[in-house]
Amino acid sequence: MRSASRPVRQRGQRLGFVPTMGALHEGHLSLVRTARASSDVVAASIFVNPTQFGPNEDLAKYPRSFERDCEMLEREGVDLVFAPSVEEMYPAGAVTWVTVEELSGKLDGRSRPGHFRGVTTVVAKLLHIVEPDRAFFGQKDAAQVAIIRRMVRDLNLPVEIVVCPIVREPDGLAMSSRNAYLDPAQRKQALVLHRSLMRVQQMAEAGDHVVSKLITAGRETAAEENSVRLDYFEIVDPDTLDPANDLSRGALVAVAAYVGTTRLIDNLLLQPIPR
Ligand code: AMP
Repeated sequence: MRSASRPVRQRGQRLGFVPTMGALHEGHLSLVRTARASSDVVAASIFVNPTQFGPNEDLAKYPRSFERDCEMLEREGVDLVFAPSVEEMYPAGAVTWVTVEELSGKLDGRSRPGHFRGVTTVVAKLLHIVEPDRAFFGQKDAAQVAIIRRMVRDLNLPVEIVVCPIVREPDGLAMSSRNAYLDPAQRKQALVLHRSLMRVQQMAEAGDHVVSKLITAGRETAAEENSVRLDYFEIVDPDTLDPANDLSRGALVAVAAYVGTTRLIDNLLLQPIPR
């Protein structure tokens, strides 16, 4: 990978990088297109990172479609695909981790201990290997965005992080590789995540700015689908992931829920509302 990426930068060209776990969909492709539009050379990685999965999570059954993914990336004009093996990324005896303290225990980090440590470790490694000028991430994983931004700042990594908006299905469901796990009934039930966010947005737009009230309304909406088990529904500061007291700095409304055994996440950003 380095022997492909170094000459790009030596030529003075801008290298854009899109890290993924494969099983690509339009959400991933929107990142690729944004990278394509602002880079001379685009690299994407496909790596199902074992260290970000908990012991009882879906690592073994995580969808894998390497050939199809490569075709999609080629069609989008991606120049380089990096698809390392697990052994290459984690040589036997690897004991070194990158951890963003505090933030990694919030939101998804609370219900998925060790998840963000796995994410930051692999992203740090990928950034070291690829050495891109810019790396592209989706707002879909809002906590991940906050944590990676913090890591890049704290470690002085020479890369610009670009965040791209959430891509949704026409009915509002946020695109996710994990949507493939849903049967038709669950696929309908899963819409309650987006509905709960919309409820909060509508209330905020109608002038309801009391955070606790907005959270209650979001949770009530999420509870309307009684087969969906809410993990969290929170309104937090998008950078610190701490609970927001008001909407003066803008806020991240984030939801996670289990539909059957599938854990889905979604979120929305509320614009700052002066106190
Ligand atoms: P993943 O393959 O799930 O690790 O995702 C790779 C990248 O694609 C991450 O930066 C995700 O945030 C981003 N991504 C996944 N789904 C979406 C979506 N629906 N909209 C925008 N970005 C997404």
